[in-house]
Amino acid sequence: MSAVEIPRSPQPACRLSVVVPCFNEAECIEAFHARAKSACELLAGDAYEIVFVDDGSRDNTWPLIQSLAAANPRVVGVKLMRNHGHQLAATAGLQTSRGQRVLLIDADLQDPPELMGDMWALMDKGADVVYGKRTSREGESWFKRASASLFYRLLMRMTDVAIPVDTGDFRMMDRKVVDILNSMPEHHRFLRGMVSWIGGRQVPLNYERLSRFAGRTKYPLKKMVLFAVDAITGFSIVPLRLAFWIGLVAAMMAAGLLAYVFIGWLSGETVVGWTSMMAVITFFAGVQLAVLGVIGEYLGRLVHESKRRPMFLIETLIGSDREIPRS
Ligand code: UDP
Ligand code: MG
Repeated sequence: MSAVEIPRSPQPACRLSVVVPCFNEAECIEAFHARAKSACELLAGDAYEIVFVDDGSRDNTWPLIQSLAAANPRVVGVKLMRNHGHQLAATAGLQTSRGQRVLLIDADLQDPPELMGDMWALMDKGADVVYGKRTSREGESWFKRASASLFYRLLMRMTDVAIPVDTGDFRMMDRKVVDILNSMPEHHRFLRGMVSWIGGRQVPLNYERLSRFAGRTKYPLKKMVLFAVDAITGFSIVPLRLAFWIGLVAAMMAAGLLAYVFIGWLSGETVVGWTSMMAVITFFAGVQLAVLGVIGEYLGRLVHESKRRPMFLIETLIGSDREIPRS
């Protein structure tokens, strides 16, 4: 006698996943969950999931995610082994998610979860991606706003991919876009650029970026600079070309100086000019080191990528019967 097949009720299709990277967000997470939950229920009934990714927090974030998951079966918790950074935490969440549409959003309520309704409507009209475009940035320092504005404009000039200015990672994406994104293997991830690269119908949704609900930014200057370098090296080889042109200009200047030195030698004035000589030597040494540095930046990334290590490591996955995604 063959074994009796136990009929299983089919998994209800998940229509919406909300992916939330969290790093020391204990103060925000409950408020975020309450607002996101209502917004999700309005749109998708109970065919939604909220995927919290704990990016190696040192505060109470993970226990809070656990208790949210115990209270709400729609909460999925992903605990990474250590802090991998915002972009990789988001990637881990995207790889865990399985909704037909996926909203990527921060935990700090700077981007209002209620906007998912407007994004959803634009998706219904045929968009593949709806990205939040910031019309104002409340509560952020003058320095942060100025550097972000400069960065986006610089990046736009340097890349072949049209990465929209004044946008973050706050966006809703169709499943097919998320699947493509998940299949892109690079470790140094600049998600908003990668999504732009994918193409399809990408539409903006203007909104006002509010101040953090609680806590402080998890993007100090150092992380911001590394992020900017990832963005530029990931999407542009302009700095490498620039290195070549700087080298060429320096070589031409050197040729001119050589002529000057030769004339000086002919006229017998060889000792004077020590200061200018030192200036020239240090200048060209500086140029060479800078150019080498640019090349090194790309080479370093090549070494990193060639190791093909996993992008992130998941310690625990709760509230989900799926297998731990392997990056
Ligand atoms: N974040 C993270 N890992 C990090 C840094 C930040 O998962 O190493 C999360 C953080 O918890 C937040 C989001 O990424 O949900 C954006 O960070 P933050 O709000 O500090 O950045 P800002 O809005 O100041 O640029
Ligand atoms: Mg923030």
